[in-house]
Amino acid sequence: MTTPNTPPVCDYEGSDYQNSFWDRGGREYEDRTEAIALRRLLPKRGRILLELGAGAGRNTPRYLGFDRIILLDYSRTQLEQAQMRLGPSNKYIYVAADAYRLPFVDGLFDTVTMIRTLHHMADARRALTQVKNVLRSEGVFILEYANKLNLKAIVRYLLGKQKWSPFALEPVEFAALNFDFHPKAIRKWLKDLEFTIERTLTVSHFRVGFIKRVIPTSILVSLDSLFQWTGALWQLSPSVFLRACKIRNPHGVETRPAMISPMMVFKCPDCGYTALADEGTHLQCLNCRKKWEFKNGIYDFRKSLD
Ligand SMILES: [Zn+2]
Repeated sequence: MTTPNTPPVCDYEGSDYQNSFWDRGGREYEDRTEAIALRRLLPKRGRILLELGAGAGRNTPRYLGFDRIILLDYSRTQLEQAQMRLGPSNKYIYVAADAYRLPFVDGLFDTVTMIRTLHHMADARRALTQVKNVLRSEGVFILEYANKLNLKAIVRYLLGKQKWSPFALEPVEFAALNFDFHPKAIRKWLKDLEFTIERTLTVSHFRVGFIKRVIPTSILVSLDSLFQWTGALWQLSPSVFLRACKIRNPHGVETRPAMISPMMVFKCPDCGYTALADEGTHLQCLNCRKKWEFKNGIYDFRKSLD
């Protein structure tokens, strides 16, 4: 389900991803090492954070230093699971939308996180450009990406067990809408978009079935925690986290809303107009007149109501 001119979207609609992959999938090690990396990279507090690809809200409780958190996912059912998990609170705003057409005013967010999400982007550069637009100047972007230049892929390639080269700069789509990226390519895209990379951590060094079975998780987590710092030197792990800062535009004037209410944060994803009228069951763009549904606590900007 996509609108014209945007790349295909990996949709977790109706998926029990949270349960099958995380809760019962033997991924305690991955979850705990990600928590450590996030703690090391995330600003302690801020006004408003965008969680891009929030899924069922697995990471959301790690962002509680922020006054408001916007959970964005393409799948409505993932957001419904997040609502159940997090419980009722004014702190959260739930948005179903396409990462290539973000429905937010420019320069809104102090921090944007994108974890295990770029992995599904057919046009990663385009999604990163959207992040740049919605981030305020000197705002922080925490990005996690799947690294094609990981040790396992290198060994498999050298042994002739894998066709694609981990050394080539272009992304590899190893399964439908699942992409791994070369660290150098990511660095170049971010530089082109005028981000400064402040810190890089490598994560999940021991994501190998038999190691996870043989060695206790807490030991692996401690070792990974130490190894994460080597990300500053080289990146050979399957997952890489980085913290980038949007360079300040000395000529730019930013007007940020004084208070954060849903009416102040959205723009029409179709025409870009920032005045939307709140009609209770939907928001209506005062320019192109398109209607965007608001139902059961979720703003839906994927497709306008006819
Ligand atoms: Zn519009």
